[in-house]
Formats: sequence, C-alpha cells, structure tokens
Amino acid sequence: MYWEKYSYEKIKHKVFEALSNNTNYNTEKVLGLPGTLLDSEVFYDDAPFLKDAPFLSTLIANPNHIGVHTLGDKHEDFFKGTHEIEKDLIKICAEEIFGAEPQSYDGYVASGGTEANIEALWIYRNFYLQEYKADLNDIAVIYSADTHYSIPKAVNLLGVKGIEINVDEKTREINLKDLELILHDVLLAGYKYFIVNVNMSTTMFGSVDDINKIIDLLDLFHLNYKIHIDGAYGGFIFPFTNTENPFTFKNKAISSFSIDGHKMLQAPYGTGIFLIRKDFLKYVCTNEAGYVKGKDYTLCGSRSGANAVCVWMILRIHGSIGWSVKMHQLVDRANSICERLNDMGVKYFRHRDLNIVTIDANFMSGDLARKYHLVPDNHEEKPNWYKIVVMPHVKQGIIDKFLSELKDEQQNRIK
Ligand SMILES: *Cc1c(COP(=O)(O)O)cnc(C)c1O
Repeated sequence: MYWEKYSYEKIKHKVFEALSNNTNYNTEKVLGLPGTLLDSEVFYDDAPFLKDAPFLSTLIANPNHIGVHTLGDKHEDFFKGTHEIEKDLIKICAEEIFGAEPQSYDGYVASGGTEANIEALWIYRNFYLQEYKADLNDIAVIYSADTHYSIPKAVNLLGVKGIEINVDEKTREINLKDLELILHDVLLAGYKYFIVNVNMSTTMFGSVDDINKIIDLLDLFHLNYKIHIDGAYGGFIFPFTNTENPFTFKNKAISSFSIDGHKMLQAPYGTGIFLIRKDFLKYVCTNEAGYVKGKDYTLCGSRSGANAVCVWMILRIHGSIGWSVKMHQLVDRANSICERLNDMGVKYFRHRDLNIVTIDANFMSGDLARKYHLVPDNHEEKPNWYKIVVMPHVKQGIIDKFLSELKDEQQNRIK
C-alpha cells in the first residue's frame, strides 16, 4: 500500500487547477444547469483568504458530482476538473487500501456509510432479480446482531428478508455455529440467493467478522451469495493497523466496500465512500435519468464535489505512511487504556487493531459514563456496555482523569 504525500502548496495547486478545468458559472455562458455558485451574500467569493483555501473555494464554486465518474467518459463533463480528483481518491481507496487491480472497480463519494450500504444491497438484490429471475421472496440478507442499523434499514427498503445471526460473546464476531444452523433452516425455507454483510469493524465494539471462515461456510453449503464489507467505521483504520488485512479485492468472494470519510478520516459529514467491482453498477442504472449525461447509478443523485476534494486532500496531505502512523498512535493510546483497565480488573471488549474500548456496564456507574460522554449500547433499557472511541481529540490528560475516577469507583465497590 502506498500513495504519495503532497505538500499543502501542491494540493492547493492541484485543486485550483481542477477548478479551472470545471465550468465556471461566473465567467462562462451557462444557461442550462439548475445549479450555480453558492449564495453570494453569505458566501462572498472575493474574501482574500479564499485564494489559500482550496476546500472552501471548491465549496463556493459548487461543482455537482452527480453520477459515477469511474465509468469512463460517459458522464457529465461540466465539472471534469474536480471529477478527476474524485477519480484519484477512488483509485487510492480501491487500489492502494483494498488491493484492486487498475480499471477493475467503480466507486463514488456517497452521503455516508448508510447510503453506501444501501447501494450495495440494492445492487445485489437487482443482480439476483435480473440475472436469476429471482423472486423477492428468494433473497435473504445475512448479518450479525452487532451490525450497524443501516443494514436492517436497507433490508426494509428493498423488500427482502433480513436474517440476524448471533455474535460470539467473547469475540463479538458473527457466530459461525449459529450461522450454520440458520443456513440449514433458510435453505429448507426456500431461500436461494444470499447477500452477506461482513463487518470490518462494528460501530459499538470495533469487532471484525472472520471473513475467511464465513466464506468457507457459505461455500460448504454451495450457496449463491454476494459479500459486502461494511468498513464504514473500520475502513480507514483496520487496513493500516492490521498487517495481514484479509479484506481486499484480492479475495474473489468480496464484491464491495463501504468506508466513511467522516469517521476516522476526520472529513466533513457527507463523505461515505462506496467501492464495487466493475460490471455491477449497471444493476442500479436509472435509465429514466434522461437529463443526466451517462445516466445515474447512485442512490443520492446530486452531490457536492467539495466533499470528494476534501477527502482527497486529507489522504494526500498525510500520504499512506503518515496516515498509518496516525492510526497506530490511536491504537497505542487504546492499548494503554486497556492496560489500566486490566490492572483495575474492569471487564471490557477490545479488538487489538481498533481504537474502540467497550466497557462492561457492570463495572461503572451511569453517572461516570455520562460525565465523560461514553456512549451506551442502548438508551431505552439499562445499558450493558459503554464505549470509548479513541479519536484524535481524546488526549491522555482526559483519559487519565476518567481512569482515576473509574478506579475510585472500583475501590468503593470492593469496600
Ligand atoms: C457509522 C456506520 C455506518 C453508517 O454510516 P453513516 O455515515 O452514519 O451513514 C454504517 N456502518 C458502520 C459499521 C458504521 O460505523
């Protein structure tokens, strides 16, 4: 995995160059588009700092990235300058982070992990409907109980069957015995086509499903299946901290990924990235999108080019080496929390390659959890877990304060 680090000067130059290759609402004759610059009363474009602010300048120029630009020349060309930046971003993610061969994938910057997950399941549902003349009732989506709620949301929207599998209590991975038993049942019940969501880190625990064992089991049953990897949370950390990352396009059984820029990457909201092998997007082509050159293959339609530019800027300012260092620092900080919890005898869940520490609620008071804004696994009943997410703002000082209060609670408990 390698992509070059650029200086801020170079990034600035590239973004302004891209903007100059876009259609400019101010200086060109643009009569047909329902888009324009951002409102000039609020976003005045003669602010002197803008010449040093490539992201804000892109925001104000307001390029629309509607459609998918990895599909070749058959797309809108009003904003081809910043489309090229999005293509470089998708290339870094697909080829460098997830090991794809050049030209073997498509992708776009979606509104978030939710959209990217829905897009994936929508594609595979239509794939089975079109290629196998499947009936909606033949298709089942399989996912673990710790899976993000966007997957059941997609199941609900798409009118297919959702099948939740228990997790192993120790590893929080999808429980393979339970999966095996349920596969027996669903085959008997007549389901023929399977869409399997595999978590490259869950949101609550940072647990990672065992992709290879899942594939072995699906193959043992000779199932017709497609695998989507939900890396909305883990996509920008796990491949950097796990040196033998099995979640790549080199694994033929994996067809797509969701990865959120607006979580680990610290990009603004609206930056979920969807990646899929070539020749799959056609199953969600909306032919009725007559006014869009090249049609539309996304769920969202119009989307801001500034989002793509911003994610690209973040990846480029760090380079692959810088990003890897940054992610290791978070994991190290999570390690030190775990060591202290071990000393105190506090029970928790932690995946060694992730920056989430999920504490057993029996070992801490709700008051302490609220004071430090730990997030509970549910808000209705008594929580079972509270999680710490070691993001860049979670500094050692505040960790130390929290741990010392937690220690006081443990000592009072023993007394
Ligand atoms: C956050 C998250 C999502 C949903 O992402 P949004 O960007 O909030 O739409 C999906 N899956 C996982 C694992 C997540 O952590």
